[in-house]
Amino acid sequence: MTAASVKHHPQPSAGVAFASELAFENIEHDYQGQQTLRGVSLIAAPGELLCLLGPSGSGKTTLLRLAAGLEEPRQGRILLNKREISGPDVFVPPEQRGVGLMFQDFALFPHMSVFENVRFGLNALSQAESKKQALVALQRVGLSDLADQFPHALSGGEQQRVALARALSPRPSVLLMDEPFSGLDSRLKDTVRDETLAILRETRATALMVTHDAEEAMRMADRIALLNDGQLVQVGTAEDLYYRPVNLFTAAFFSELNAFECTVLSGRVDTPLGIFDAPSFREGQSVSVAIRLPSVEIEVEGGNIPARIIFRRFLGVVEHIGLAVPGTEQVIQARIRAGQLKSGLRDVTLCVNEHDIMMFESGFK
Ligand code: ADP
Ligand code: MG
Repeated sequence: MTAASVKHHPQPSAGVAFASELAFENIEHDYQGQQTLRGVSLIAAPGELLCLLGPSGSGKTTLLRLAAGLEEPRQGRILLNKREISGPDVFVPPEQRGVGLMFQDFALFPHMSVFENVRFGLNALSQAESKKQALVALQRVGLSDLADQFPHALSGGEQQRVALARALSPRPSVLLMDEPFSGLDSRLKDTVRDETLAILRETRATALMVTHDAEEAMRMADRIALLNDGQLVQVGTAEDLYYRPVNLFTAAFFSELNAFECTVLSGRVDTPLGIFDAPSFREGQSVSVAIRLPSVEIEVEGGNIPARIIFRRFLGVVEHIGLAVPGTEQVIQARIRAGQLKSGLRDVTLCVNEHDIMMFESGFK
């Protein structure tokens, strides 16, 4: 985060922005009386790529629109480098925030060339200067050769890069991206993500990126902010959220799980996959017990839970298995290395390592 120490530069060169800190303080927002954000406080550090992750309708786009100045919060403040840009008595209009916005559908102007699209956001500059900066931005995304083309003649990946160049050309200190890869086909995504990451690192802008895809967030983000129903659930690195989820929602967002609702009795919980100690819970407390699919081990014999295979799905490297076990109607799921079990096998045994058990207070979002 070297950009953090560079406070100001009168004439930044080569299209490098100077990263800002973007802070949300206790944001409340609603649409037509329907609350969409509740007490959201979050800080994106200078130069950081922070992913807003959450299911559809959790408030990700709303938070981005508030940062861009396309909405005003009902309550709370937004600060850019500690300067209030939105608050009870302050509202800096979008064009004065120095914040770049990239929409989900790229929103390119179809009747303008690639070059004109990128130059569009630079109309405050002189002709010569805006031309120069638009060319720098196009060069940065590797599209100089396509400057005179129109958007319809470009592939999805190229359109994405034009949108990125347009958002970056005014050298915003914060770049806001709403699901920037969702319009791309899956084979393109990996390449475009890597290119985008490289460009972001080079420009050093602080970036706030929205996605509903946990794997994409893990792949790209320095830190992830997980939202559910307008509230922040957990903020941290990919490892924090994956290995130390604060509740069942986070755990389930990052991996497929077998989950059981249990009551603590004599300091233990009795699940269809075994009895486990629950030392950090009260007697009689309701607890969600969660076990990731690869943590359910299948053995022909020798495991401690008898089970019957009810379906097998070959997925290439791994195989997804559904199992029936005594004492529950719930289908237990497992994921094993393909080829590990011989075909036609029906009766097996299961075992789960105590270390792979996750337990959470029930009903806590
Ligand atoms: P996300 O981007 O996480 O899918 P949004 O921020 O778009 O979620 O939406 C959060 C909630 O606010 C949803 O319930 C959505 O229906 C509602 N909402 C979003 N935009 C509007 C709007 N312009 N008018 C009314 N309700 C809206
Ligand atoms: Mg959205």
